[in-house]
Amino acid sequence: MLHNSVKILLVEDNSAEATLLVEILTEAHTAKFALEHVKRLEEALARLAQECFDIVLLDLTLPDSQGLESLSTVISQYPSLPVVVLTNMNDDRLAVEAVRLGAQDYLVKRLVNAELLVRSVRYAIERKQVSEALRKANAELAQANGRLKQEIFERQRAQEDLQRSNAELEEFAYVASHDLQQPLSTISSWAQMLAMRYRSQLDEAADKYIDHILDGTVRMQQLIEDLLAYSRVGRATQESEPTNCEVLLKAVLGRIEHAIAQSHVTITYDSLPTVMADPVNLGQVFQNLLDNAIKYRGEDPPRIHISAVCRSREYIYPENCHPDNASASSTPPSLSQNSSPREWVFSITDNGIGIKSDYFQRIFVVFQRLHRHSEYPGTGIGLAICQKIVEGHGGRIWVKSELGKGSTFFFSIPDRPVAPSIGN
Ligand code: ADP
Repeated sequence: MLHNSVKILLVEDNSAEATLLVEILTEAHTAKFALEHVKRLEEALARLAQECFDIVLLDLTLPDSQGLESLSTVISQYPSLPVVVLTNMNDDRLAVEAVRLGAQDYLVKRLVNAELLVRSVRYAIERKQVSEALRKANAELAQANGRLKQEIFERQRAQEDLQRSNAELEEFAYVASHDLQQPLSTISSWAQMLAMRYRSQLDEAADKYIDHILDGTVRMQQLIEDLLAYSRVGRATQESEPTNCEVLLKAVLGRIEHAIAQSHVTITYDSLPTVMADPVNLGQVFQNLLDNAIKYRGEDPPRIHISAVCRSREYIYPENCHPDNASASSTPPSLSQNSSPREWVFSITDNGIGIKSDYFQRIFVVFQRLHRHSEYPGTGIGLAICQKIVEGHGGRIWVKSELGKGSTFFFSIPDRPVAPSIGN
């Protein structure tokens, strides 16, 4: 919609032609026009610099500028101002070229009447407004696109940096722990030799010192082996393959048969899915979590239950239950409306000693333990290994627990299409 009074700047050196146009516009009752007339391009540019006009009616033969040059000058200085050029008879080619260069329309002076002029002015302004809005939207879009590209580039770079530093760290842990084994085994051998030859020949304190050295070397060996195991998880990740989790769990239960029998634990499980995973590593996750559920059992007869549910990956976690801020919650999480992509969430629930919510994140860090070695043996690497494996599969791991009541460890594995394989 145009506003009531349209401000026109008429650039026309011929006074008679200008008067005629003013007359014609005065005749037009369909809209109000405020017309200002100048004779030279220089004057026109000076007026445009001082005031805002809705449109310029531009004659192409001016005393100080000729032909399309006048048009180019106005358009280059005022790109959002609509311009209608005024041509003489037989100037068709010039008129077409003017429109191609950016004029909104052209009017042949001798053929102009009120209706034609008003319509041309009106359409010129509207067309220019639309094309300006479009140009602005395009510019904004291009800007947003540029920002997005920059953001993607920066994220990719940060990810590459992170991958590189992770790889370096893994390499360092691997080399360091590998190289530490040799001198440690030398210390251990000589300490054993000392124990064999001189136990009971020195005083009581000396025997105690020898025992401390032997204990220390065994612990140190265990730590180094665990550190090596941790750094190997990243190095030796197998290709994912269709993995029947029920078959895998049964194999793991077979491996820990002795611990199950000793602790009199009752283990139950629901039907488990087939997922795309590295079976060796996924088996390690099940085993570490089951080992812990047995190790950290409470006074009650121990019970462990394993189950799995499939749900949307855009899952809405209730407050306090998201893996990122993992803390206690008994509210069952709700499902998002959007159903794809999906993931399998496994849970291993025990009725053991439980964990204080303050430690829900700390326990996944390498060598972080909540108990002394004399209370519960271990090195604090099991959950860190689980986290590395699960995250390597594109999933997450977290815990929900209450001190004295038991814990549930959850981990997710993306639900990818299971490629058919021979024998599956
Ligand atoms: P480790 O068992 O060798 O200490 P983990 O990394 O497996 O190492 O576990 C880290 C800590 O998390 C344990 O020291 C223990 O305090 C706690 N934890 C793990 N699993 C359980 C569980 N099922 N119940 C109670 N505490 C647990």
